[in-house]
Amino acid sequence: MPQKRDYYELLGVSRNANDDEIKKSFRRLAKQYHPDASPDDPNAAEKFKEIGEAYQVLSDPEKRQLYDRYGHNPPQGFGDFTGFGGFADIFEEFLGFGGARAAARRGPQPGAHLKYSLTISFEESVFGIEKDLEIPRLETCSNCRGSGAEPGTSPIRCPQCGGTGEVRRATQSIFGSFVNVTPCPRCEGEGEVVSTPCAMCKGQKRLQITRKLRVSVPAGIDDGMQIRLAGEGEHGVRGGPAGNLYVVVNVKKHPLFQRDGNDLLMELPINIVQAALGDQLQVPTLNGDVAFTIPPGTQHGQAFRIKDAGVPFLRRNGRGDLIVTTQVVVPKKLNEQQKALLRELARSLGKEPIAPKSVLDKMKDAFK
Ligand SMILES: [Zn+2]
Ligand SMILES: [Zn+2]
Repeated sequence: MPQKRDYYELLGVSRNANDDEIKKSFRRLAKQYHPDASPDDPNAAEKFKEIGEAYQVLSDPEKRQLYDRYGHNPPQGFGDFTGFGGFADIFEEFLGFGGARAAARRGPQPGAHLKYSLTISFEESVFGIEKDLEIPRLETCSNCRGSGAEPGTSPIRCPQCGGTGEVRRATQSIFGSFVNVTPCPRCEGEGEVVSTPCAMCKGQKRLQITRKLRVSVPAGIDDGMQIRLAGEGEHGVRGGPAGNLYVVVNVKKHPLFQRDGNDLLMELPINIVQAALGDQLQVPTLNGDVAFTIPPGTQHGQAFRIKDAGVPFLRRNGRGDLIVTTQVVVPKKLNEQQKALLRELARSLGKEPIAPKSVLDKMKDAFK
């Protein structure tokens, strides 16, 4: 029995190559040594068989482990690596033999879906807006109506494949006979060729056109949502349907308001006197200022709900609320008079104004 070559060496990968590297390398070599691809190389068939065997072992974690441990001759009871089955399946999987792929290229081909990113302001997202978009897309050529042939002429049956769109080649190899079906290279699987290409689209059937479209953005749309415009994507080929256009909406941030579902959140800074005594003031909403009452004794972080001043619901009537959260701001700079007033308040509240204690004093207090 001739000396067998190392499987890793055969596939040209290192011993710690991962599955992906092994697969890639096998794929490349299988194409190179396929008996169809190198009919003049008498060793191709043997090489093809060798790399197939190497791949079968190295792509199977269990077999690979055995091989790593024992090489080509595992002990009895572990089976051996030769006499593999399902070999043709591997090559079909990799090289795409069979007629399915070729046939699929001939029928109507749907147009691609398109995505368009639309940025709108926060207010536009709340109230809704109509926007004009310019969408570059492939459209059916108006000159040839998508046939690719100059008007007055028509495509002729492909002389190479006789109109089937496929080229079949039977190959006898050591594995039996393969029927290799590929799309016809002349007509690219269509079965027809254009002898007088359309002057406008150069026979491409479609043209790149920038189309103006109006999209209606509904009130209440949120950042990241998308609007589907059915049939406004690329046009299909050979009667295939057009794709859709998906408008992805990006909503800009607002300096005052944040969105929480259909509610709007807003922070309202107030001073300590407003918090303690209450106040009447105007707060902004997206529909203009409204009167707002801060009740006496309002705490920092207290939330107040202003009904129906939020974001409209997308699929039903009504809208969310505006939630105003107070932020009590303690003054950092006070003049002497203000300080005196606060000291007086402090006396009235029953506590002497306290000078800041050092950490040491605090610790002494703690151990008393
Ligand atoms: Zn045309
Ligand atoms: Zn053809």
